[in-house]
Amino acid sequence: MSLNIFLRTFHNLTSKRQFLKIQWKKLEKNYFPVQKRNHLSQSINSNSDMPPSGKARTVLIDLSGTVHVESTAISTAHSAIERLRDTSLNIRFVTNSSKESKLSLYKRLKNMGFDIKMDEIFTSLTAARQLVETRKLRPMLILTEEAMDDFKGIPNEDPNAVLVGLTPDKFNYEHLNTAFRVLLDKPDIPLIAINKARYIKQLSGLSLATGPFVTALEYAVDRKAELVGKPNSAFFLESIKDFGCEASSTVMIGDDVRDDVEGAMKIGMFGILVKTGKYRDGDETKIKPGPDAICSDIGDAVEYIITNLT
Ligand SMILES: [Mg+2]
Repeated sequence: MSLNIFLRTFHNLTSKRQFLKIQWKKLEKNYFPVQKRNHLSQSINSNSDMPPSGKARTVLIDLSGTVHVESTAISTAHSAIERLRDTSLNIRFVTNSSKESKLSLYKRLKNMGFDIKMDEIFTSLTAARQLVETRKLRPMLILTEEAMDDFKGIPNEDPNAVLVGLTPDKFNYEHLNTAFRVLLDKPDIPLIAINKARYIKQLSGLSLATGPFVTALEYAVDRKAELVGKPNSAFFLESIKDFGCEASSTVMIGDDVRDDVEGAMKIGMFGILVKTGKYRDGDETKIKPGPDAICSDIGDAVEYIITNLT
């Protein structure tokens, strides 16, 4: 084979390879749903030079630690939410917050300058009330006075359940011992946890959340708690029900690698971990497979979604 023929053959093969590569990328972009691409790409991060591509329809956003910490907004949160509003993506804020009522949380977000509607917020307290009503429960409520507002009209005499949310003032021997005795006296009644987060981010630092106290009750009565909020699959699915979209076209952004990211990924959502709020170095290695994407904050996450997932 002469040198010229060899070079022409080599050029043709290279062109064909390039052509096939482009066609494959087109196929991948148009036909693979988010979750399928997730399997192809495994764990990636926002600096990856091979981001997935495709069509997301809904974005679920965690609040505490992702959008704000207590009454302080995460610096990029306002602009990130505004950018999402300019797209056709559905938006819902999903929170495990159980320290205050939905109305109180909504007012706090408005005071921070967020353009958010009340019905865009889906809280674990709302889900807990739905569960209590459906099963006609009369729970002993271990909740803050503010959170109790979300349970107005629910009977609680002669309790047939114990429901626990984040209530630092009541996480003491007296209240927990009362709950323990109710559960011990009635072995068939459920212990319900609004969530089982290990810790939360406060301005003063990380603080104990509901999980350690629920776990103390579980241990004492040798009974597992029913979990209402994230990472419960039913909670995620209920939050997107109104949109009529699939989990596979939903993206979840959050600062809790287990409750937000792993919980969402388990039902086929695309999970993005942000490095704000409760995030600590190495959190991304605590779940297998790792997060679909890791971003510095919600601003970076929204940029990632618009660039790669729409
Ligand atoms: Mg959070």
